[in-house]
Amino acid sequence: MSVLVYTENWDGKFKKLSYELVSYAKTVAALAGGDVTALSIGSVDQDELSTLGNYGASLVLSADAAPSGLDNQVYTSIIAAAMEKCGARILVLAHNNTGKALAPRLSVKLKAGLAAAVIAVPESAGPLVVNKKVYSGKAFAKVEILTDKAILTLSQNSFEICETGGTATVEAFDPDVDVAAAATSIQDVQKQEGKLLLSDADVVISGGRGMKSPDNWAPIEELATLLEGATACSRPVSDEGWRPHSEHTGQTGKIIAPNLYMAFGISGAIQHLAGVSSSKCIVAVNTDKDAPIFEAADYGIVGDALKVLPELISEIRAARAQ
Ligand SMILES: Cc1cc2nc3c(=O)[nH]c(=O)nc-3n(C[C@H](O)[C@H](O)[C@H](O)COP(=O)(O)OP(=O)(O)OC[C@H]3O[C@@H](n4cnc5c(N)ncnc54)[C@H](O)[C@@H]3O)c2cc1C
Repeated sequence: MSVLVYTENWDGKFKKLSYELVSYAKTVAALAGGDVTALSIGSVDQDELSTLGNYGASLVLSADAAPSGLDNQVYTSIIAAAMEKCGARILVLAHNNTGKALAPRLSVKLKAGLAAAVIAVPESAGPLVVNKKVYSGKAFAKVEILTDKAILTLSQNSFEICETGGTATVEAFDPDVDVAAAATSIQDVQKQEGKLLLSDADVVISGGRGMKSPDNWAPIEELATLLEGATACSRPVSDEGWRPHSEHTGQTGKIIAPNLYMAFGISGAIQHLAGVSSSKCIVAVNTDKDAPIFEAADYGIVGDALKVLPELISEIRAARAQ
């Protein structure tokens, strides 16, 4: 049972999650008895494409001609065509906004059972039995996929990236997809320059409504710069226009899994934790000692974020100066 994995890239480079997905797909393929084909859509150079061999892909299909930007119909058609081309019966995608948009469409198109937010390699391959998160990660369910084809979306940071030392054949892939038939088209793209991609950042400094005002964000940004991290926020903060929506993490925002997540003035509602609870280490600063964020945090400071932040920054600067 071969596995197709849909990789994601940005600015011509694979996102870190792509290596996790390919590593995971390799283990699933070993269990099911088959090979891994990786699909890359968009402009990625040959050397970068071939790196996927090191994580377990034996074939990389490169649909170079970027379709009409973010149209999910077009992406769905290309991925379905790639499934047919390589004869895969299992498809692996990331459980992020992209995967959540594409997987249900592909499930209908391919008549494939879908297990979303899986957290581990299947227990068995015939039928496929997998563990997945439910209730925004508050519980886990074991599901059995009984259809001929199966789709798995992998929760980020659930599987260790493994380098195999293998090599992959890179093949141009030109699926017969009518890009012009897309329901939407991109009119303009404005790129954020010099900013670390939130979903790839190892360190994320995040602020919630407890930061009181958008005027108080300078120390959040300063700390992120100091720790070479990215900035994030809770949903009300972006809803109120204090920060861009691209920074909002959680159930309806970005799902992230950095090594360090620092939450300043964030209550820790279940919908927020759904997007950040896979972080390796969570540090929370909140004035309310009973705030739910402290249940999820590895380290907590009961205190005013507006006072703690400058102190933290000056301590880090002092430690670095020594
Ligand atoms: C369907 C649905 C989906 C949702 N999706 C998301 C999502 O994706 N992401 C998300 O974040 N939310 C989401 N929410 C909203 C979520 O339920 C919470 O309302 C939200 O996360 C709260 O944001 P907050 O913690 O910043 O604000 P608040 O709930 O207002 O909490 C502010 C916190 O700051 C503390 N505080 C106050 N002053 C200070 C200070 N000076 N220093 C330190 N701490 C201070 C307070 O004690 C409090 O804990 C969703 C809600 C629904 C219904």
